[in-house]
Formats: sequence, C-alpha cells, structure tokens
Amino acid sequence: MIELSGISRRYRTGPGGNGNGGNNEAVVVNALSDVTLKIEQGEFVAIIGPSGSGKSTLLHILGLLDKPDSGTYRFLGKDVTRLSDNELAALRNGLAGFIFQQFHLLPRLTAIENALLPLVYAGRAERRDSARARLAEVGLSHREEHRPNQMSGGEQQRVAIARSMVNDPVIIFADEPTGNLDSKSEKEIVDILKKLNEAGKTVVMVTHEREIAEHAGRVIQMRDGYVVSDERRDASLTPVKESVSATDSDKIDNVLSVHRAVGRAEFGDQVQQAFHSIFSHKMRSALSMLGILIGVGAVIAMLAVGQGARESVQKGLASLGSNMLHIHPGAVRTGGVALQAGAVTRLTLQDVEAVAKLDTVRHVCPNVNGRAQLVYKNKNWNTRLQGNGAAYAEMRASVPIVGRFFMEEEVQNRARVVIIGITVAKELFGDSDPVGKIIRINRVEFTVLGISPPKGSFRGWDQDDFVVVPITTAMYRLFGLDYISDMDAEVKEASMMDDAKDEIKQLLLRRHRVSPSNSDVIQIHDMTEIQDMLSSTAKTMGWLLGSIAAISLVVGGIGIMNIMLVSVTERTKEIGLRKAIGARRSDIMVQFLIEAVVMTLSGGMIGIILGSGTAYLLSTLAEWPVKVSGAAVALAVTFSVIIGIIFGLWPARQASRLDPITALKYE
Ligand code: ADP
Ligand code: MG
Repeated sequence: MIELSGISRRYRTGPGGNGNGGNNEAVVVNALSDVTLKIEQGEFVAIIGPSGSGKSTLLHILGLLDKPDSGTYRFLGKDVTRLSDNELAALRNGLAGFIFQQFHLLPRLTAIENALLPLVYAGRAERRDSARARLAEVGLSHREEHRPNQMSGGEQQRVAIARSMVNDPVIIFADEPTGNLDSKSEKEIVDILKKLNEAGKTVVMVTHEREIAEHAGRVIQMRDGYVVSDERRDASLTPVKESVSATDSDKIDNVLSVHRAVGRAEFGDQVQQAFHSIFSHKMRSALSMLGILIGVGAVIAMLAVGQGARESVQKGLASLGSNMLHIHPGAVRTGGVALQAGAVTRLTLQDVEAVAKLDTVRHVCPNVNGRAQLVYKNKNWNTRLQGNGAAYAEMRASVPIVGRFFMEEEVQNRARVVIIGITVAKELFGDSDPVGKIIRINRVEFTVLGISPPKGSFRGWDQDDFVVVPITTAMYRLFGLDYISDMDAEVKEASMMDDAKDEIKQLLLRRHRVSPSNSDVIQIHDMTEIQDMLSSTAKTMGWLLGSIAAISLVVGGIGIMNIMLVSVTERTKEIGLRKAIGARRSDIMVQFLIEAVVMTLSGGMIGIILGSGTAYLLSTLAEWPVKVSGAAVALAVTFSVIIGIIFGLWPARQASRLDPITALKYE
C-alpha cells in the first residue's frame, strides 16, 4: 500500500535571510535520511523514537502533508511525489485521516461541525448523518452540539478521530494522539484506534511511549532520521497483503478524477463557513464594517438629497410650461463701469404688446414684483405681490381651483381684483370662503377673485404665500411704476424657439434704439439653458459626492483589509488544519474572500438603510425634497462587493499560500 524508498528530508535553518551580513551559513538538519519502508494494507504501525528523531517528519511525508527532498513514494501503487498541491489536498481529503497531538479542533465550531469539516472540502457537507454516525462510534452522540472548550481532552481527541473517519479513509495517521491525555483517556483512544484497525483501516501512529506502541502489530524505531529497527510483534495478527489490489489503485484515480471534476467545495458551504467566522467575532466584524457603513450611508443620503433637488427643480421648470422664453433687461458696460441691470433699458407695456404681435409668439406675460401689506377685518398679512398679464393663468398653470383669474379687460381697466395663494387665504380667511370678499392691499380695496392652485414648498420657501393682481394695477395703483421688470413669452412651436429669440431681440433693440454691438441690454433665456445650467451644477455636485464616496470607501476597505490580515494571522492554525484535511488553495482563498465580501456587503446594506433613514429625516424635518433612487442603491451594493474583493484579495492570498505543516505548528 505504501512504498518509500530512499526518502530524505532536510531542513535549512539559521541566519539565512536576516541580512546582518557576515556569518550567514545555514544550519542543515537531516530530519530524515534514506528511509526505505513498506506498509501493507490493514497494518497497525507504531513509529517510536526519542524526540527530534524525525517521527513527525516521516508521518507528514506519509500523510502527503510534506514532500521529500529525494527518494520516491508510491501510495496505492501510484508515484505521488510529482503530484500538485491541489492533487495532494484531494488525496488527503479522500483517502487519509489525521489525528494530532493538539487535537486541532476549530474552537468556534461544535463537535458535529468539526467532525463534518472534511466533507465540506469533498463537496458533500449535506451528509451530516455520516458525521453524526462517526461521533456515535466514538461514543459522543450526547456531545454533538458542544464546543471544544466544553469537552475534556479525551473527548476532543475522539471528535478529532470522528473527523478523521468521516470521509471513510483507507489510512489513518496519528501523531502522538495520546501525548496530551491522562492515562484513562489514553486507553480509550488506543482502544478506538485498535478497533478501527480491526475493522480494516490501516493505522500509522507516532508515539514516544513504549507502552502505547505495544498495542501495534508492528513497531518502527527511529533515531536521528534513520530507521534503526522494524519488527512485527505477531505476524498472525496483521493481515498482510503482498501487492496492491486493483480496487486500491482505482480508488486513487477515482479521488483524483472527482477532484478534477468538482474542483472545490460547494459555494453554499463556503458561505456558511464565512458567516460562522464573522458571527464568532461579532464586535470585531461590526467595527471593521463601520468604515464601509458610514461611507455608503453618507453617499446614499447625499445622492438622495441631490436627486431630490434635481427632480424638484425639474418639476418646477415643467410647471413653467414648455417653449418659454424669459426676457429681461441686462447690464450694460460703459467704459468699463458695469451699470445696474435695467439702468439703460426698461421694458414697457408697449414692448409687451409689440412682442405679442409677432407670428412666432402665442402669449406674452409681463411681470412686476414687490411686497404688500394685506388687511382683512382685524387680520394682517405681509406677502409677495406679483403684477401679471391675463395670460399668466394659462402660461404658468395657475388657473384658480376656487373662483377665477382676471381677464384682459380687467387688466385694461386697472381693476382692483386679486388672486390669492392658499397660504394667504388661510391666514386672512381661515376656513371661510374668500371669493368675493374685499381686502385692503396697501390701503387700497381689492376684490378677491379666486385662490391660486397650491404649489407646495421648496427648501423651506412657501410657494403659496403670494398674491397676483393685474400688471397695470400693480404698476400704477400700488408701486407707482411706468415700466415692467421682465416678461415671459410662450413660443408657438418648439422648432421656432431660435427664430423667436432672434425676432424678439431685433424688435426690442430696434424699439429702444440700441446698436447691435450693445445687444446685451436685452437678455433672452430659454428653459433648456436653465436646465443645462442646473444639470452642470448637478454634475459638479456628482463629482464632489463621488470623491467623498471614493475616499470613505477606500478608507473603509483598508480597515477591512487590516482586520482580515489580523484574522489570517490569528487563524493560521485553522488554515493549516483545513489544508491538512483537504482544503485546496482556492478553497481557502474563496473562504476569506467571501468573509471580506460578506463584511463589506453587510456594511453596505446597513449603510443603505442608515443613509435612507437620514434622507427621510431630512425630508420630514427640514422639508428637503429627497429621493433614494434604485440606481444609487445598486451602485452602493456593487461598490461594497467590489471593495470586499479588492481589499480581501491580499489577505485571502496570504492565507491560501500558507504551508499546512508550518501553519499547524504556528504559535
Ligand atoms: P519528532 O517528531 O521525532 O520529535 P521531527 O520530525 O518533528 O521530530 O523533527 C526532526 C528534526 O527536524 C528535529 O531535529 C527538528 O528540530 C527538525 N525540524 C522539524 N521541523 C523543522 C522545521 N520546520 N524547520 C527546521 N527544522 C525542523
Ligand atoms: Mg513529533
């Protein structure tokens, strides 16, 4: 079954690469020298010898945990010295069982979870009952849910034996299995090993105690890396097979081909292992998530505010109507001195009439603005007063919900009529109907015609706190003006916008006798310009948010990486054990990557909730328009995953490259 010939193993230690120059001659230890050995199926072999004689080194080579420097090793008839690390891992997982002096149970897992660990790497973790059956065989059915620190040494070692048996191996390797146990447990363990041997398992056991070795059918004695004696106690007890049977060599090919086909542990089991380790360090995991959590939360909140502002501005623009041009007097420079806007040119009602006559224009509405004191009975209210043309109602989607707007005729007559906003209505009239009532505006009596439709508030600014009167009434009766401040024009077709702009400009420049070189005195804007301006502001804001997001996520990612590196160091033994029982590099890598991603992703998820909560608070308390968009959430999730992969990669690689033996010995 096992054939070693001329196996040697040297360790090189001493001042190799520590760089203090001078004496850097390495010390070479010949741990094994020219070992030639055959072990047949069904044997119970004890390897004894003083400490440092090479027993463990030999067992590690036999158990495919370590490779010899020279010599050949045939296992089940196949030369295994040339196999890759992953193939060796597959053979360890499928054909060998390991029992160590220090038990090497994973402290956070229960007895049954420890026992089924090799099944995870065989991709068969669903076979929980086979782990249960093995625990029953070692008499631990009642301890299934206990953790290692809740069990005695003997019990822990029995769990380790159950673990070594769970994949039904052909051979069991035990390194000083009773070294840490009292004599009663010692006997139990040896009895179990003997029973396994009687049931047909080959057992190779290292021990330094003669008494224990007595139980084996064959004792190999070692000293200074050499085999010094090899004797069978009782030949009749050990069913010796001379040659490897066909089924055995089939078995090894089988394991290798399954390994090639399956490749790695089931993803679901890996995720489960990752969750296990995160939940066993709740505080640490929570703290390391904090960076990602805050980053994602801030980003979600800020994107929500940005998006909300953009949408409310767009909605506002849409309510202004389409095909609108805004015309106002501009500043003029004379000799380098900027005059105040409107200092040279003032738009008049005659300008409005002229513009209205253009073919491309459907409606024109002049505007003046000011403040006014309103009085009704004993109620006083100060508000914003607009003077507008009759076209205002239609152009600005302001046809009253109660009552009516004023007509062209009322504009001509400077009628004392007023449309009030809903806030004004509430302040002056409470619940009673204002239509037809008389109020005083700056001591002039006005009749209320209607209530303007509600527009809501925008960033704390109440858009319903205003009144509208005819433009002429505002100019001549209230403010004493003979000019307007600006006007809005609605163009007939979207395609006529540019023509209309030119026509209006030419017309107004002509009317005011302004030379074309001074054409800036008339400013005409359309909504697409305003939209462009807003979207460029939004873009700048987006860049700003993006960089804040990037910084916080990178910082969060570094935090995760730090924790993961600590965790790799702390769990070196665990990694060694996992590798010993058959985890491939990729399995370890994937496990740590999943841990990192699970942490960043959960951090991200909590961040999303937190960010949305903040946005919600802003919208209710500060009345900010906010919107948490699906795109922002998707972005946050994607970024969390990517950050996890990027910053988990290095620690995961470190973990996956550990050598199983070195890792197991790590203190
Ligand atoms: P045993 O198990 O019989 O006590 P080992 O097989 O562990 O002995 O070790 C055999 C020899 O190899 C000892 O001299 C030990 O110091 C040396 N040795 C074992 N492992 C290493 C290592 N990783 N690096 C250097 N020397 C080692
Ligand atoms: Mg040893």
